[in-house]
Amino acid sequence: MPLTVSPSSLVDHSTPCYYYDIALLDATLKEVRKHGLDKGYHVHFALKANHEPYLLKKIRQAGLGADCVSGGEVQQALDNDFKPDQIAFAGVGKSDQEINLGLESSIFCFNVESLQELSVINEIAKKKQTKAPVALRLNPNIPVKTHKYIATGLNENKFGINDEELILVLEALPNLSCIEFLGIHFHIGSQINHLEPFIELAQKTNKYVEQIEAAGFTIKVLNMGGGYGINYIEPDAEPIPNFKAFFNVFDTHLNRRSDQEIHFELGRSIIAQSGSLISRVLFIKERSKKTFAIIDAGMTELIRPALYQATHQIERIDSHENTSNTYQNYDVVGPICESSDSFAQNYLLPVLQRGDLLAIRSAGAYGQVMKSNYNLRPDFPVIYSDKISDQP
Ligand SMILES: *Cc1c(COP(=O)(O)O)cnc(C)c1O
Repeated sequence: MPLTVSPSSLVDHSTPCYYYDIALLDATLKEVRKHGLDKGYHVHFALKANHEPYLLKKIRQAGLGADCVSGGEVQQALDNDFKPDQIAFAGVGKSDQEINLGLESSIFCFNVESLQELSVINEIAKKKQTKAPVALRLNPNIPVKTHKYIATGLNENKFGINDEELILVLEALPNLSCIEFLGIHFHIGSQINHLEPFIELAQKTNKYVEQIEAAGFTIKVLNMGGGYGINYIEPDAEPIPNFKAFFNVFDTHLNRRSDQEIHFELGRSIIAQSGSLISRVLFIKERSKKTFAIIDAGMTELIRPALYQATHQIERIDSHENTSNTYQNYDVVGPICESSDSFAQNYLLPVLQRGDLLAIRSAGAYGQVMKSNYNLRPDFPVIYSDKISDQP
């Protein structure tokens, strides 16, 4: 299933722009429903990956809740009609203002990352004469093969409560009268493409449940977080991640009781493959050892390659002007005044000429949300495949 956009619909469109394949998003959500929601799992969409209102509406209508990591995201979820009791709020540095917003909005759960945060939330809830629903974000020390900037479940990472601190938290909890203890939460990293870390997570969760319940608490909520990866190398070979295999891990390895709810917080796996960044070739620059294709999109539109050495498939959208079938290697670079502003090195593409359109694939997650106006770059348009006729 190559990019389902007819070149003619984009040829005259201003670039750079983001393009979202809504049919693919719908098909992806259907798989999440079939293998996740229909089994009774609760799935929250991580707004951090994408917070476009039109996409959020589709996601909410499919029955997913919201996972937020800032007050701004909690507000965005509320403004886009997610029910407060479907909103989870994580984050290692919640401000008092953000905690207040969560309490006033009666969100489902705060995922709490330290003993100090727990006592601050308790104090704020006490002032408001309310109770804060809380899950403890535990750091299970599970290594994952992903870029070090997006591994979060190791002792050396800033996230979560480690095993030593957990003992102190369990001692403190009975005295924190405005905390309603719901359960435990994890998020071990992102772009995790193999199942072993999730198997280990499920097994460790069983041990944590035993430990915490032996200390006299009841765990009602088990939140396994997100992190399931996607195929950036060959998006058309795997446009929809294998959700059956992912949820099966938890069917198989998690000791689930009927009085417990299992939650997930998926971001990338839901939205990444539906988005492409569309850009036009501005100039071709020949150098003795390489050829640069300088395009009109840069790290200001998609920072993942510059930030995490991420790889995105790039393809030429064929037009009448250029039907060349000979190939050449290019360094595909943006216009921003930084050498890290590069999408690919030595990348094989049909011979390019000024004006050709390129699609940078798998850009739906952590793409548009990380835009910046560095170099005073202007904002860009967004196109939805099912509304394409509405576009200028
Ligand atoms: C980023 C994040 C997610 C989503 O991660 P993906 O890799 O996009 O699935 C889920 N939960 C928390 C707490 C996060 O910070």
